[in-house]
Amino acid sequence: MTANDCFMNPNDLIQQTAEIIVSSKHVVALTGAGVSVESGIPPFRGKGGLWEKFDPLEVAHIQSFMRNPERVWRLLISEMKGILADARPNPAHAGLARLESLGKLKTVITQNVDGLHQLAGSRDVIEFHGNFAMLRCMDCGLRVKTVDVAMTDMPPRCHCGGIYRPECVFFGEPIPMQALDRAQMAASSCDLMLVAGTSAVVQPAAFMPVMARQSGAVVIEINPEPTPLTGSTSKYLVRGKAGITVRRITDEVEQMLAARR
Ligand code: NAD
Ligand code: ZN
Repeated sequence: MTANDCFMNPNDLIQQTAEIIVSSKHVVALTGAGVSVESGIPPFRGKGGLWEKFDPLEVAHIQSFMRNPERVWRLLISEMKGILADARPNPAHAGLARLESLGKLKTVITQNVDGLHQLAGSRDVIEFHGNFAMLRCMDCGLRVKTVDVAMTDMPPRCHCGGIYRPECVFFGEPIPMQALDRAQMAASSCDLMLVAGTSAVVQPAAFMPVMARQSGAVVIEINPEPTPLTGSTSKYLVRGKAGITVRRITDEVEQMLAARR
């Protein structure tokens, strides 16, 4: 980020971001919990984050789950189930889906497990940390929809007696091979990466923008707060909430593309 970029007004940055999107050939987005905040899903870190209630690194760690699945189901998973069941896409998800249908955005790499990008219409979504929509029996491997499992017994069990776990990646677990491969491919082949709503501290997801930058791409962040990428990896930070910011950027892109026709 240059000194000039630091002092640019957010409206100019929105305009500049739209221009860069229009002139780019291969745009990829990396999203985090922040893009779903306006859908009513709390993030881990930041204001109103789950971190204020407990340490997600501890509760959402695979070792905590293996040691005491009942506690993790009660503290984290059952709460997430209720919140996610009612969540609907917000203008950030809708804007990214619109950028894809305009032919400008190729892929969304998301750290979110809420399925909201797909619900908003995005087609090429890499779920870096899996999805919360399905549960899997840890004994027989049976997969069931999360919404279909009653929360009467904790932890919920399969008819074989095995404990169900969500098909998302706990801290301490590897990223699913196919998602990691595809994300690395997307990061190293894009010429622009939009990084929205992530604190950029969870690895290896936070390395994707670094990989993009190292491969010559421009990295632009959208976040109300700076992150470790700000001022180093990213060209600039468009400071603001993802919903209004992505919507305004997408409106600008749409107008620029229409004016070219
Ligand atoms: P994080 O919780 O570490 O950080 C949230 C980030 O979003 C912060 O940088 C914050 O400043 C920013 N933010 C807050 N409100 C915003 C808004 N309205 N618009 C844009 N940005 C906003 O999130 P993370 O980096 O994604 O890491 C958390 C991990 O927890 C992820 O791996 C994810 O899998 C998981 N998680 C997922 C969900 C979900 O699926 N919606 C929710 C919580 C946590
Ligand atoms: Zn089973």
